[in-house]
Amino acid sequence: MTMQEARQKLTALQHKLAAYGHALALMSYDGATTAPKGTAANRAQSMGVLGEELYLLSTGEATVQLLEFLDEHKAELDEKEQRIVYLLLRDIRRMQKIPMDEYIAYEKLTVEADDVWHTCKLNSDFATFEPYLQQIFDYNRKFARYCAPEKDPYDECLNRYEEGLDCKQCDAFFATLREHIVPLLHKVMARPQLDNSLIRGHFDAARQDVLSRRLMPLIGLDTNHVGLSTTEHPFTTSLGSHLDERITTHYYEEDFSDSMFSVIHEGGHALYDTGSDDDLAYTALDGGVSMGIHESQSRFYENILGRSQAFCDHLLPILQEIFPEKMAGHTSEELYRAINRVEPSLIRTQADELTYCLHVMVRYELEKQIMDGTLAVHDLPQAWNALYKEYLGIDVPDDRRGVLQDSHWAGGLVGYFPSYAIGNAYGAQFLRKMKETVEVDDCLRRGDFGPINDWNRTHIWRFGCLKTPKALFEDATGETFDPTVYTTYLEEKYGKLYGIC
Ligand SMILES: [Zn+2]
Repeated sequence: MTMQEARQKLTALQHKLAAYGHALALMSYDGATTAPKGTAANRAQSMGVLGEELYLLSTGEATVQLLEFLDEHKAELDEKEQRIVYLLLRDIRRMQKIPMDEYIAYEKLTVEADDVWHTCKLNSDFATFEPYLQQIFDYNRKFARYCAPEKDPYDECLNRYEEGLDCKQCDAFFATLREHIVPLLHKVMARPQLDNSLIRGHFDAARQDVLSRRLMPLIGLDTNHVGLSTTEHPFTTSLGSHLDERITTHYYEEDFSDSMFSVIHEGGHALYDTGSDDDLAYTALDGGVSMGIHESQSRFYENILGRSQAFCDHLLPILQEIFPEKMAGHTSEELYRAINRVEPSLIRTQADELTYCLHVMVRYELEKQIMDGTLAVHDLPQAWNALYKEYLGIDVPDDRRGVLQDSHWAGGLVGYFPSYAIGNAYGAQFLRKMKETVEVDDCLRRGDFGPINDWNRTHIWRFGCLKTPKALFEDATGETFDPTVYTTYLEEKYGKLYGIC
């Protein structure tokens, strides 16, 4: 095989992988949005066939031979080609270490577990879910040992969602957050509460939809390439490449801010994905590099920009136009205070910006203990409730609003949670660097996201998966990761809001 032939084959392989991925993503997007209820089995049939084809294509002998040939000649490849070969081979080698029968059994288990979890959550029934969860953690421990026998199994799980991340870094990171956030929260709770009645009441879903469609172009989304629909749980997905992105939201008529921030959050994910350089489309480098960097973008738009005083100045007249009965006669300061009320609560996805990381910390501590065997899955609800009491000071009334609230573990995503908190902290450092050259508050007040998005595109989005998360972060900020930048941001913001000196 000549290098030219190998390159052509690599391009053709990636186009095929993208096409299968496109079909599968579109089917699951359809399932979550507009598909009629009785069509799941029909979809599962086709997705099963396509999924198997995709597996055979990505791990088959012809693919392995091609990639190994290219790997042997990597000196002749450019930077992008080298990274593509590295990423594709890394995944194949991982798959090869897991016995096929165990992999298939695990895939089946997570589909079943997800189904069981839905019912168990509704009924607050941990006992029925427990054996599934036990097996999911057992498999994750076993697979981690197959893939990286020299590593601590939980390190391997963390590394799957944030390349290079391990327990030692997480321990130090969360210790810093705890040291700053817990005392700050105590001070905040000792102050008079902020009034959030402005965002509560009745907000017609159709008018909330009008707001969503105003916000999308406002934050810089190209609505020729980014679509919006509604689902139970908001998410973002790419279809085929970064040229077709879909975001979803959920309208609650008693509080419009829930959907508003979902649209901005998912919009941040979509800005990141669609910001990949166009020549990365249909390659392994297209789209976001890691969950931590992804969340750094979504939570940057949602919280750092979306919940800022400067953005409230721009947002208020828009809200007054869409919801005049409720918003007329109020000030942007009132809006700013209403959307930044701090309240320790049970549900992670509804948490305010200050307490959010404490929810993640609970999950991190528990995953770590289960993976190293110091906590039994059977004792998980009790341990969960104890940590909610310790970190957030609240009593968990039932498992539905406790240990059963998230779908992640049921889907096999062990090691995923820390990326949410790390993303928050990355975002604060991106902001500090951005402010050296961009008048962020002026832009927000004018509703001009152009200069902000240009900075993100230049330093983050356009690279897709070309760099490791660590290299991407350090090149963009010119410094190493320092979570105290984030805790300082929180201390300044909430110190002012709650009048703490
Ligand atoms: Zn997100």
